Amino acid sequence: MSREVRVRFAPSPTGPLHIGGVRTALYNYLFARQNGGKMILRIEDTDSRRFVPGAEEYINEALHWLGIEIDEGVREGGPYGPYKQSERRDIYREHVQMLIDAGRAYYAFDTPEELDAKRAEVSNFQYDASTRGQMRNSLTMSADEVKALIDGGTPWVVRFKIEPGRDVEVNDLLRGRVVIKSDILDDKVLYKSSDDLPTYHLANIVDDHLMKVSHVIRGEEWLPSAPLHVLLYEAFGWSDTAPEFVHLPLLLKPDGKGKLSKRDGDRLGFPVFPLEWHDPSSGDISSGYRESGYLPQAVVNFLALLGWNPGDDTEVMSMQDLIDKFSFAHCSRSGAKFAFEKGKWFNHIYIEQTDDATLAALFKPLMQAAGADMSRYDDAYICRAIASVKSRVNFVKELVDQAGFYFIAPTTYSAKDIKKRWSAETPALMLRLCEILEGLPQLSAEVAEPVVMEWIKSNDLHMGNVMNAFRLALVGECKGPHIFEITDIIGKDETLRRLHAAVDNIKPDEPTV
Ligand code: GLU
Repeated sequence: MSREVRVRFAPSPTGPLHIGGVRTALYNYLFARQNGGKMILRIEDTDSRRFVPGAEEYINEALHWLGIEIDEGVREGGPYGPYKQSERRDIYREHVQMLIDAGRAYYAFDTPEELDAKRAEVSNFQYDASTRGQMRNSLTMSADEVKALIDGGTPWVVRFKIEPGRDVEVNDLLRGRVVIKSDILDDKVLYKSSDDLPTYHLANIVDDHLMKVSHVIRGEEWLPSAPLHVLLYEAFGWSDTAPEFVHLPLLLKPDGKGKLSKRDGDRLGFPVFPLEWHDPSSGDISSGYRESGYLPQAVVNFLALLGWNPGDDTEVMSMQDLIDKFSFAHCSRSGAKFAFEKGKWFNHIYIEQTDDATLAALFKPLMQAAGADMSRYDDAYICRAIASVKSRVNFVKELVDQAGFYFIAPTTYSAKDIKKRWSAETPALMLRLCEILEGLPQLSAEVAEPVVMEWIKSNDLHMGNVMNAFRLALVGECKGPHIFEITDIIGKDETLRRLHAAVDNIKPDEPTV
């Protein structure tokens, strides 16, 4: 009998979501959608010391931007809520009590100083079957003593009682079966009276069980916790419904040497966060993919391929393609190098594929900020301008550089191009060109190009010099799309205006004799 697929992304709101976390969320989402299952977003905020204001909103906004839809969560609600761990205290209290009552967990009163003293005394000290008998806990003290300490307000923790001599089996869909000896595990703290909250381990597995999670898909850094989680499921009597594990490989530095860090991004110039992050305590700003001009589809496509491939060399895939093709069988077990140049390439591809109106909406505020009065242009004009240059850019913001001349007529001209293309004869030629263009009904390539070409040919003019001078007048430098595409878009009046302005303003770079 196959089980309903229910996966969860369970970030701790301790700062901005790292790009590796985004990939984890994405793989969860692809797997859920492929199997007609549910995607849960659970906020794991039981470590109150590490809580960062704004982090939860950031997570929601980032997932939303990327198109990773949540079925059950803090905002969405759902049948197994609350979906924020700090709102589930009663549930954890009840569950930790169940383990204590079953003799699978115990109270410990050792102070930090006592634990330090023990560590100094016993080399490689670990709180486990070999040492717990020497410590201050409910296994070494009488029930009355324990009660008196608790009633008297002495701080305590609850520790999980790990039985030694057991083989603990972890099955991971990517890594297969791993067996470890329970003796190497310590009696992990599950609950702390100091903040009346569980630790990650208890809260995480209680919630996975209660939220009926079928697959735990998370980063490799959580693999060491898996044996403990297996034992916790067992202690609760939940082994039969324990989720399957998938521990995803790390994202590595671009050169493959070590784990990807924020510093690599700063050093090599790429964001490691989906959205820009303003650190509330330091005020530092970290760059984000969104603000750096990436399209969410490009980020999704790029990330999907960091640790997974479709089994062939298809690279460009929409979210739906990814959902259809995703499989753990094609996930890699070794770390994936963060090939950020490839991310730029994906962005280029997606910009080319994005419709002009969508790009126009992103472009307008950038062009306005660059000094253009965008209220003067209708959407059709903006779209045509974008369409003429979009194959030349990797980022939306580069459209400002490439298409800016459509919105701000040149007032200065490239000195280098003047030197090369604008001689003493050029003004007269440009004025003649104006007369020719003036006589045409419009300046599309079909209409204007043959006429201008014929004029150049029959007068034995230098094609390169004439056309580049023309371009210099329209663009301000010798770059840009096909010249008659430009004239068609800006129109006859503006073309003539720019030619006249160039004649008036460009001083030929020639020695006067
Ligand atoms: N709260 C953990 C994190 O921040 C969750 C790990 C898990 O998915 O079990 O990643």
